[in-house]
Amino acid sequence: MNHAQSDPTVQPVPASVVETVDAADVTLSNPKLAVVALGSNLGNRLDTLQGAIDALGDTPGVRVKAVSPVYETEPWGVDPGTQPSYLNAVVILKTTLPPSSLLERGQAIEEAFDRVREERWGPRTIDVDIISYADVLSEDPVLTLPHPRAHQRAFVLAPWHDMDPAAQIPGHGPVAALLTALGTAGVAPRADLELRLPE
Ligand code: ADP
Ligand code: MG
Repeated sequence: MNHAQSDPTVQPVPASVVETVDAADVTLSNPKLAVVALGSNLGNRLDTLQGAIDALGDTPGVRVKAVSPVYETEPWGVDPGTQPSYLNAVVILKTTLPPSSLLERGQAIEEAFDRVREERWGPRTIDVDIISYADVLSEDPVLTLPHPRAHQRAFVLAPWHDMDPAAQIPGHGPVAALLTALGTAGVAPRADLELRLPE
């Protein structure tokens, strides 16, 4: 029986939400590609980024397929000179975890590195953002997909483009075009630093 048709309290799904974020504790049968951005501006930033990549790689149902070059970035959304600069990188994953579980894992990694959430856009040992998950679109504030600010952030677009020049942000188009329009002011490649795939 179709309850949705007979129950007047069931609301229609808003047209803008193509696929809602699914419940945790599910494992998908076919792996999906996800793009995750990492940023650190406290402590040993490179070690922290590598630790987060290794922790992602240790997650059952997650395989890290590619790791971007490292960029150094002026802090975003705060007065210049008031916070240390960031090291940023982007990784591409294949995962059988649903989006909600991937977010949970990212948050657990943030906790593990002692991130203190005091100030919006404040300094953090590690920030783990889900940039995109297959072609899922979600307006849920708990997990917005693609990440609502990714297309405005050169520190996400530049390393992602290095790894995958043909990348697209669902709903926003090619990363290459977004990056050209945005420019790379405040974002510098750190060719002297290297992150590796998890062992
Ligand atoms: P930001 O990454 O913009 O600096 P935070 O890391 O403090 O901000 O994240 C704040 C909240 O954003 C988190 O509690 C999380 O639930 C939510 N959020 C929404 N969409 C995403 C996403 N795509 N990736 C990571 N967090 C997200
Ligand atoms: Mg975040």
